[in-house]
This record gives sequence, structure tokens and C-alpha cells, in this order.
Amino acid sequence: MHPLNIFKHCPVCGSENFIENDSRSKKCKDCSFVYYQNTAASVAAIIRRGKDEILVTRRAINPQKGKLDLPGGFVEFDETAEEALAREIKEELNIEIKNIKYEFTIPNNYSFSDMNIRTLDMFFSCEQDGESRIKAQDDVKDAKYMKINELKEDDFGLDSMKIAIRIIKNGAEMQK
Ligand SMILES: [Zn+2]
Repeated sequence: MHPLNIFKHCPVCGSENFIENDSRSKKCKDCSFVYYQNTAASVAAIIRRGKDEILVTRRAINPQKGKLDLPGGFVEFDETAEEALAREIKEELNIEIKNIKYEFTIPNNYSFSDMNIRTLDMFFSCEQDGESRIKAQDDVKDAKYMKINELKEDDFGLDSMKIAIRIIKNGAEMQK
């Protein structure tokens, strides 16, 4: 199904002649407006404690409510990925982070408002800065540090998170 299938009318002139242009855009035959669905940037944190633990959260909202997750979210306008990561961690866990380091990216599908949002999830490793107590809030139900070798990818809700957990576990194995 076309990613812009739910958009029936041209958002500029309201025409019903709003037709598929290519695999990710629609074009208005009346006013020539073209709308592309672009990949949305999102970030996720691998918050490490010691050599063998990372912080894992539980989703408080759909999609995949109740499943495990890594903290993070969408990058806002004019934000760097690192700024987005620090902001999301503050919003979801009420802690600061330090030593942010790029790890890898995974394309993903995120179902929201009946739309399949295509995202590029950017993963960074980091550490908690300071001793503040972690407080799960916003779209996180709870959060705790877990041993990497005890993580099960099927306990995680989003496809990109399952793949990320596999990569993190392989990385931990290789360091042994
Ligand atoms: Zn139009």
C-alpha cells in the first residue's frame, strides 16, 4: 500500500485529483503540488552501566504498549541527534547523560495515527551523568538496568529494537 494512501485530497487546493507520483510521493493534478513522505529521524540510547548492563524501559503507549524498549524518540526541527537524545532521556527518565557515542542506524516502521511512519533510528551509547534517581515518566512505564546477556529480543516491541538488541548482545560477546 502507498505510504500516503490515507491522504485523499490535495493539502493545498483540496482537489480529489491527488494521485500517486512515485513510491513515496503524491501529486495534485490540478495545482501541481507534490508531497513527499520523507524518512523521520529518531534516536535511541544504549545507556551503559559497567561492562555488562544497559538501561531498558517499558513502553507506556502504543504502538507495542507494555513491551520493552530503549529510551529515545523523534528528532525535532533544528536539533542535533545528540541534543534530541539528551532531551528525550530527560523527558522520559529525568536523568542527564554523558559520553554520547554514535553506534549504528536501523530503518524502521512506526505505526502512528493510522499512518505507517518510516523512520531512521539512530543508536548512541552513553552513560548516566550524576546520581539522580531514575524516574520513569512521559511515554515510559518503568525503567531498569538489565544484564545484556539476559536480554531477549522478542521481549522488545519495535522491529528496530529487536535488531539493536541482537547487535548489542553480539558486541558484548565479542568483547569477552
Ligand atoms: Zn492541489
